[in-house]
Amino acid sequence: MSRKQYCVANWKMNLTSTEGVNFILDLVSKDIMSASAKIILCPSFTGIIPAVEAAKDCRIEIGAQNVYFEPEGAFTGEVSTAMLKDAGCQWVILGHSERRHIFKEDDQTIARKIQRALRDDLKIILCIGETLEQREAGQTDALLKSQLKSAIENISVIPEDGFCIAYEPVWAIGTGKTATPDLAADAHRLIRDNLTDMGLPGETVSLLYGGSVKPENAKELIKTDGIDGFLIGGASLKSEAFCQIYEQFKS
Ligand code: PEP
Repeated sequence: MSRKQYCVANWKMNLTSTEGVNFILDLVSKDIMSASAKIILCPSFTGIIPAVEAAKDCRIEIGAQNVYFEPEGAFTGEVSTAMLKDAGCQWVILGHSERRHIFKEDDQTIARKIQRALRDDLKIILCIGETLEQREAGQTDALLKSQLKSAIENISVIPEDGFCIAYEPVWAIGTGKTATPDLAADAHRLIRDNLTDMGLPGETVSLLYGGSVKPENAKELIKTDGIDGFLIGGASLKSEAFCQIYEQFKS
């Protein structure tokens, strides 16, 4: 079954607008866009408009790292789906573990954000994943299931081209510890089976892996059953490392 492949950069609170534009110009000059995977770059809010402008003649798409669930109003510091779309942004990352753990976003908030993004035609990268304590306590399967269920139980249709799920074990994010291909494959299988049980197209949704992906481990991971791409943090901050990871989609 052919599913779309994605190579997604989550720059978090890194790279100024100028640095983001230079990154994109570097990618364009390297002419790496021949792999079939789609590139999505997610700068901070202030970097979105310059990134959209820099990427306008190539196949790179731009995403945000967050959005609010209300359409507009007195919500100081928040950004709406309309603002993101007006800025040229096509995607949004939701449910990232840093939003869940540092900013205390709960499942209900994430579900509301997903509903808002779907309603307003913003494409979604939903992140789910277990902490080390949850894995060691044998709670991984139940946790993934409950994060999935609460995020999308009220959704009857997943857009065919615009909804990815990233399995991101929290213990692997920014730690240098990567999930083994077998562990990632098991989690991806569980996610697909759960989606199917929920009446959603589990076999056709693109599932990404995230957690210390780097040029050295990308080759093995991208060949792993069920992995359709990556969500990359640290290694996406340097265009050279990002390109080396992207090249692995070609082989
Ligand atoms: C992330 O932040 O989504 C991530 C996977 O980070 P890193 O690649 O640095 O582990």
